[in-house]
Amino acid sequence: MSGYQVIIGMMSHETITFSTVKTTLSDFRPMYGQEIVETLKGTRSGIGGYIDVFDREGVEYIPTIAAGATPAGELRNEDFWKIVNYIKDAINQAGKIDGVLLALHGAMVAEGAPEAEGTLLREVKEIVEDTPVIVTLDLHGLISGSLIDNCDAVFGYDTNPHIDMYERGVEAAETLVKTMKGEIKPTVAHRKLPMLPPTINQRTAEGPMVKLLETARQMETQPGVLNVCLFPAFPYADVQRAGSAVVAVTDNDPELAQELADILGEEMWSLRNEFLKPLTPIAEAVSTAINAPEGPVVLADVADNPGGGAPGDGTEILRELLRQDATNTGFACIKDPEAVQKAIEIGVKNTFTMKIGAKTDGFHGEPLEVTGTVRTITDGRFIHKAMAVGVPADVGRTAVIDVNGIEIILTERSHAPNDPEIYRRNGIEPTDKKILVLKSRGHFRAAYEPFSKQIIEVDAPGLTTPNLEWFTYHNIPRPIWPFDDPK
Ligand SMILES: [Zn+2]
Repeated sequence: MSGYQVIIGMMSHETITFSTVKTTLSDFRPMYGQEIVETLKGTRSGIGGYIDVFDREGVEYIPTIAAGATPAGELRNEDFWKIVNYIKDAINQAGKIDGVLLALHGAMVAEGAPEAEGTLLREVKEIVEDTPVIVTLDLHGLISGSLIDNCDAVFGYDTNPHIDMYERGVEAAETLVKTMKGEIKPTVAHRKLPMLPPTINQRTAEGPMVKLLETARQMETQPGVLNVCLFPAFPYADVQRAGSAVVAVTDNDPELAQELADILGEEMWSLRNEFLKPLTPIAEAVSTAINAPEGPVVLADVADNPGGGAPGDGTEILRELLRQDATNTGFACIKDPEAVQKAIEIGVKNTFTMKIGAKTDGFHGEPLEVTGTVRTITDGRFIHKAMAVGVPADVGRTAVIDVNGIEIILTERSHAPNDPEIYRRNGIEPTDKKILVLKSRGHFRAAYEPFSKQIIEVDAPGLTTPNLEWFTYHNIPRPIWPFDDPK
C-alpha cells in the first residue's frame, strides 16, 4: 500500500437550458459507495480508468457518488446540492485525504448554480485546501474561471465520439498519483474564445479538430507539458461561460501553460469558419427528395435528435412532405403516447383524424392534424442489428399510420432511429422507400449510408439544431461568433 487515500466521484450532465424538461436526481440513476466500484471496475469508463491505476499503485480510494444523465434541461437546485453535499460529507468523514479525482462534464447547469462544476469544485477546495484536485471533462465542457481556479489539473476527452474516456481517466489518475508523491506540481491555465460553434462539425476524425489536436499533441511533447486539451463548446447552454476554450497543464510552469493555451486558442479562432456546415431549407430538401431519380433519399432531422436531448416529436418536415404531396415515404419517428393510444383504440385498418406531435415544447413546430389509417401496432421492442448490436431497444408501444402514402411511426418514447430495425419491426422495408425521414444527427449514417442514394441534412427547428440562429440567447457573453464579429 502506498498509504495514500483519495476521493473519487462523478457528476455528469450536458444541460440544454432551452429544454423545458427539468432534470432530477433520479434521472441520473446515481450509484453510491461500493456499488460504483462493483459496476465500473473493469469498464472502459473514466472511473474504470481511475480504479485500474489506483489498484495498481496501491492507492486507497473512497467511492462517493457516480451520477450521469442524458442531455436535458437544468438540474433542480435541491438535487444539485444533494450531489455536492454527498461528496463533501464523504470528504469530511474520510479524515485524511491526499487527493480528489472527479469525472465531470463541464456543460452542466443547475438552477441557481449555472457554473455547476465550478461551484462543486469551490465547495470541495474549501475543505481540502492544498490537497490536489484533478478532474476529467467532456470535450463539450464549457470552461469557467471558477472551474479552473478550483482544481489543479484538467483532462478533457480528445475524441468525439468520446472513445477515450478510459484513457483520460488513466492519465488523470496517474497525474494525481505523481502529484501526491511530490514528483510533479501541476498548474493549469485556460484561454476562452469569443466563439460558439455548433456541434455538427466538432468530430475529431475530420474537420478543424484534426489540425487543432495535432498542435495539442505536438505541444505535449515539450518538456514540462502535462496535458493540452480543446473544448470547442456545447452551444445549447445559455450561460455566461459559453464559448470555446483551450486548457493547458504544465509541471509548475504557469507562464508556459498560459502561453500554450493562448497559441492554440489563436489557432482555434483562426479555424472558426470550418466548424460551420450549411443545412438545406425544409421546402428545398423535400422537393429534392421527391424529384430525385431514385431512393431512398434520407432527410435527416438533425435538429430534433433524441440522442442529443431533443424530444423527437417535431412536425415541420412532415408538414412540408404533406404540403408537397410526397408518397412512398417512411417517417421515423414521432413521439406521441397520446396518438399511440388513440391508434390502438381505433385499431388496425381503421382511419382516424387527430393532432400528432410537437406536444413537448414550442421548439418543434405545432401539433399537426392528420387523417391516417392504422397499419401496424407493436410493443416497440427490438434487438439492435446496427451500432449497439445485440442490445435490446424498447421505444414503448408503437403504431404506424399511413397518411397519403407517408408511413409515420408513432412511439410512446423518444427514439433516435439509428438502426433500420425500427422500420422493419413495424412492417416497413426502408430500402423500398423513396424518402426516409430520420430524427438523428449523425449516428444513423453507419446503417443507412450503404443503401441510401442521398442524405440531406434539413434545417428544421429543434433543440439540437446546428443553426444557432433559431435560439434566443440571454446570458452568453457578447460579442460572440457566429452571431457577432468580435475581432
Ligand atoms: Zn460530449
